[in-house]
Amino acid sequence: MADVKTKEEREKSRRIGALGALWPFLLPYRGLIALAALALVSTAMISLTLPLAVRRVVDNFGARDAVILDQYFGAAIVIAALLAIGTGLRYALVTRLGERVVADIRKAVFDRVIGMSPSFYERIMTGEVLSRITTDTTLILSVVGSSVSIALRNLLIFVGGMALMLLTSAKLTGLVLLIVPVVVVPILTLGRRLRVLSRENQDWIAASSGQASEALGAVQTVQAYTHENVSRSAFAGVTEKSFDAAMRRVNTRALMTVIVIFLVFSGVVGVLWVGARDVRAEDMSAGALVQFVIYAIMVAGAVAALSEIWGELQRAAGATERLVELLRSIDAVSDPATPAQLAPPVRGRIDFEDVSFAYPARPGTQALDHVSLSISPGETVAFVGPSGAGKTTIIQLLLRFYDPDTGRITLDGVNLASLRRDHFRRHVALVPQDPVIFAASARENIRFGRPDATDAEIEAAAKAAAAHDFIMALPEGYDSGLGERGVMLSGGQKQRIAIARAILRDAPVLLLDEATSALDAESERAVQHAVDEVSSGRTTLIVAHRLATVKKADRIVVMDEGRIVAVGSHGELVSGGGLYARLAQLQFTDGLAAE
Ligand code: ADP
Repeated sequence: MADVKTKEEREKSRRIGALGALWPFLLPYRGLIALAALALVSTAMISLTLPLAVRRVVDNFGARDAVILDQYFGAAIVIAALLAIGTGLRYALVTRLGERVVADIRKAVFDRVIGMSPSFYERIMTGEVLSRITTDTTLILSVVGSSVSIALRNLLIFVGGMALMLLTSAKLTGLVLLIVPVVVVPILTLGRRLRVLSRENQDWIAASSGQASEALGAVQTVQAYTHENVSRSAFAGVTEKSFDAAMRRVNTRALMTVIVIFLVFSGVVGVLWVGARDVRAEDMSAGALVQFVIYAIMVAGAVAALSEIWGELQRAAGATERLVELLRSIDAVSDPATPAQLAPPVRGRIDFEDVSFAYPARPGTQALDHVSLSISPGETVAFVGPSGAGKTTIIQLLLRFYDPDTGRITLDGVNLASLRRDHFRRHVALVPQDPVIFAASARENIRFGRPDATDAEIEAAAKAAAAHDFIMALPEGYDSGLGERGVMLSGGQKQRIAIARAILRDAPVLLLDEATSALDAESERAVQHAVDEVSSGRTTLIVAHRLATVKKADRIVVMDEGRIVAVGSHGELVSGGGLYARLAQLQFTDGLAAE
């Protein structure tokens, strides 16, 4: 979660065209878009008529008939009302569109990534996925929900304003067009320099807070090594650098302000001067001059707004590219177009047929090396072997989190790859080594095993998993929140919750990755009891770390370096000597002492 990035840190894209990928998300809201466009065009047009009204008002200041003046003022108020309503409507419609589209995109991305197989998460950090769902969608929100409409409005105002300026006075328009480059060129040059400097300033501020947080986070070490003065001067150094960068920015900005204000006002004065002479010569009316100046200001404002929005569009284009990449990412594991069906009832026969597999992240290491194994319905098989032998990999492949590189794995004789994953997984229950507890009540945590289970079924499962008593001892029984990641529960209790989940799921195949950490004797017995309960009548594969588990298994499979090196019962394997006998002595947490 640590590397969720802020809006400003997200990369821009040079290809504004990437925004086109948003189209499929906009399409369902065509009606809304049309209404918003209507509101936008009409308010732009109304804005453009406002100066016309002003002109009438100015030109009639001296009119003898006060009624005309009243009428013009009245008309101006009506225009203002229309403008207000139109703008409010445009805001409401456009923002609604933006929020709607972003909600849809967020859902689409989450729908996609929640189903991705683990190899996807080996390529991309969870933090990056979160950044895309939160920050990148927010960038798109600002574009769809405002920038695009602001850009369109300003474009209309720019084009319309220019045309009306020309109509009002071709001569003055020509003059303005001559002045524009004189004003714009210094603004652009200084503006670019200003952006570089403010970026630099930001970097120094970030560096100084980074320094501070590192030193403060390790404050005891700093003090223990009497490193305070070094830390002080290091912090002072970056802070002064940040001040210097700020001063360079401030000076440039001040210079820019001087130049821009002078140039803009001289320009306006110059145009007014020429215009005033025309008014005196009665070539144009005072109202027309006022009208012209207002158009000129509107056009200038539109240009400024457009130049600002460009950066935002680029940032949103970058965000769109990243989201589209997620939406279009291809999963290494996929369901067949025409899936096979398991014949009910599923019995739970499992076959590994000459399966070899290397994790995509470590192609050089064979995690499984020509593994063949048949497990009959209802059988309990314990997998033992040194760490890294491939025991967990067996479970990962059985859930089809990955596909084998060669060979195949079947359930009731049907290749897993020819089944839909969500179908065959319904017949499998998993108790992972480190059970996940969600920030919800005990009841909801168990219900995770089967969302439609009744409260009575949940309690029955909890009883069978030896979890009922400790749940009842919690302050609110089954309704007690288990807290973030189950901090309130002991290791053994978490395992029993996970086993209750598996019991509730009532699947013919059970995959159990036993915890390596030792439990106290009491929990140990409770967990063992729960395991016996859940495995009876089910095909059970246990990655075993306890002697008690191993001795109860119908068969023990000994693995080493991805291969099956021996299969048999505890007695057979011990008397056979070899790896198992050594493991039994060294590895099982309850050791041979328990015999
Ligand atoms: P065990 O459960 O017997 O301790 P695993 O099945 O977890 O062993 O691992 C088998 C081999 O695969 C080991 O060499 C391990 O380092 C490697 N491995 C396990 N998980 C991954 C993974 N996600 N990416 C890359 N290599 C992995």
